[in-house]
Amino acid sequence: MKHIAVIGAGTMGNGIAHVFAQSGFEVTLIDVQEEALKRALATIGKNLDRLIKKEKISADDKSETLARISTSTDISTGVAHAELAVEAATERTDLKLRIFEEMDAAAPAHCILASNTSSISITKIAAATKRPDQVIGMHFMNPVPIMKLVEIIRGFSTSDETCAAVMELSKQLGKSPVEVNDYPGFVANRILIPMINEAIITLHEGVAEVEAIDTVMKLGMAHPMGPLQLADFIGLDVCLSILEVLHKGLGNPKYAPCPLLVNMVTAGHLGAKSGQGFYIHTPGSKELVVSPSFA
Ligand code: NAD
Repeated sequence: MKHIAVIGAGTMGNGIAHVFAQSGFEVTLIDVQEEALKRALATIGKNLDRLIKKEKISADDKSETLARISTSTDISTGVAHAELAVEAATERTDLKLRIFEEMDAAAPAHCILASNTSSISITKIAAATKRPDQVIGMHFMNPVPIMKLVEIIRGFSTSDETCAAVMELSKQLGKSPVEVNDYPGFVANRILIPMINEAIITLHEGVAEVEAIDTVMKLGMAHPMGPLQLADFIGLDVCLSILEVLHKGLGNPKYAPCPLLVNMVTAGHLGAKSGQGFYIHTPGSKELVVSPSFA
């Protein structure tokens, strides 16, 4: 494979375009917003500068990597020569189904269509296309250039050939792919998000305070970040929506979202993105300050 299309140039799309281009692939980065494309190229440039500073790449590597990325605001022309298209657009089922229909109509017959979705069924996305055997999940982790894991999700109809090609490709990016099957939350979020929910229940029941819960998990379990701080970074709205997928999809009451989480999302306390969650988030400050709601 040489030509990769990346659909969606937000947090994940720019990272995915970055790692493919740095590994020598020609990348077309596609977004409906021209502004998002400009921001993505600026972010990739900054992240490459960081690698130059750390002496991991040269200035020439940076310009060659950037030269391999072109942009487009049109999916049909953007995927016309792609051998793999990785969709990393906004997490909405209706939007993804529409994008996959459009990619299916415009991409070459041999092109593999992948989604970076955190929670939407790959089997459902594949069913919107005429090539369900060539549809697969490629779940990169944030920040993409740094995190080693790619969770490779096999839909009900994904072929062995598609899976083998995507596993091999992920290794070419220097990543460690892990194959999993398509059930709600896949593996990463099925384990991570209920742990975060349990931390919120522990707080809600008054077992311990915010900092105590995070310290136990950081120092006791060697987690780099406590679950409540991590929830703030993921976004409490995102955590809630993944819990709802687990609860509905697996039908087990153990996945029911904690009422405190529901209240916080309803009140607009979404974590880092809104400035307040379990902690206060001030741009430019790394100090951990517990939100007044829990202090
Ligand atoms: P984001 O909001 O940062 O970016 C989404 C981008 O998609 C935006 O730039 C938007 O303009 C674009 N977009 C919307 N509709 C489009 C369309 N029709 N065609 C092309 N582009 C379109 O979102 P994100 O955090 O990068 O998440 C993208 C995907 O990755 C989601 O499916 C999410 O679940 C998944 N994911 C996110 C993370 C994370 O930590 N942010 C981690 C793993 C997976």
